[in-house]
Amino acid sequence: MKEESSFSKKFLDALEFRGIRRRDFLKYCAATAAVLGISEFEFTTKLIQVVEAASKKPPVVWIEGQSCTGCSISFTQSYPPVGSIILDTISLRHHDAVMAASGDLAEKAFHDAVKEGGFVLIVEGAIPTADDRFCMVAGKPFKKMVEEAGAKAAAIIAVGACATYGGIPAATPTKGVGLNKILPGKAIINLPTCPVHHDHLAGTILYFLTTGKAPALDKIGRPVMYFGESIHDNCRRRGQFDAGKFLTDWNDPKQKEWCLIQKGCKGPMTYADCAIRRWNAGINFCIDCGAPCQGCAEPGFYAQMSPLYSAESEISKRILAMREAGLIPKKES
Ligand code: SF4
Ligand code: SF4
Repeated sequence: MKEESSFSKKFLDALEFRGIRRRDFLKYCAATAAVLGISEFEFTTKLIQVVEAASKKPPVVWIEGQSCTGCSISFTQSYPPVGSIILDTISLRHHDAVMAASGDLAEKAFHDAVKEGGFVLIVEGAIPTADDRFCMVAGKPFKKMVEEAGAKAAAIIAVGACATYGGIPAATPTKGVGLNKILPGKAIINLPTCPVHHDHLAGTILYFLTTGKAPALDKIGRPVMYFGESIHDNCRRRGQFDAGKFLTDWNDPKQKEWCLIQKGCKGPMTYADCAIRRWNAGINFCIDCGAPCQGCAEPGFYAQMSPLYSAESEISKRILAMREAGLIPKKES
């Protein structure tokens, strides 16, 4: 293959070191390039250039507030592990969970990177607003850390439901909020879902590195390439929804494939590509393993989406009312 011949030894070593087969890497590049709207050849070539010129590229500073570290786990366990190549080679200057340094050294790494500026800032977790003491890092409010780093960053990415719109911490006494509430007026790329999908983050970083700009965003800051269609649009139970077959009893084998709207599915009001991209190396996603979509890609998650497994939330009532009124058209076959 033409692209393969342009692989340098350094790049091939980087792949081999992480146990990535060239074939898998090229497959990943082809799929990612298609989503980013770049030709496969251009994308692969630029990616290799980015990796090889790693020391000249913007460093990444990853900070974590009110979170479960699920987004870090999701990203570092991606397959193929292109995420780890990206993080390693573009100089991960700070990451609470995976950096070798701790204590004073970790604090120094953060402050040095912020002083230099020009880095890609990735924020995981919400920021408490009820009282700064709900989230302190090295004796300092996490909010201050976000403000300091946000002021010097070249690009800002909020990962996961918590950092984007508040997520679960927003529904607690801490009154956690997303980045856009702490850094108003700043351009922020929002990658919600709980946790962040590793492809969404890898693709967004790659887009920034290969084009020098942010991808097209929707009105709440999400890349259109990943959040342009609703879960409902691509759900394989859609025919059952259109036919009015709604699962009410998980124990009834006859209802196994029916639509989950009566079990609280927020798919019609949730925009994300989970039904196509799927999770766990493309194996499955919530609805296909029998769980309703909880709307974790939307700003109302978690508070407005609960109760999660019944149709009693305001959002579920709205979806059902829209269906009754014929405002959710049947899918054209
Ligand atoms: S309501 Fe949920 S389960 Fe039913 S078709 Fe839409 S997305 Fe699928
Ligand atoms: S299907 Fe819904 S709840 Fe599941 S990950 Fe996607 S947006 Fe979140």
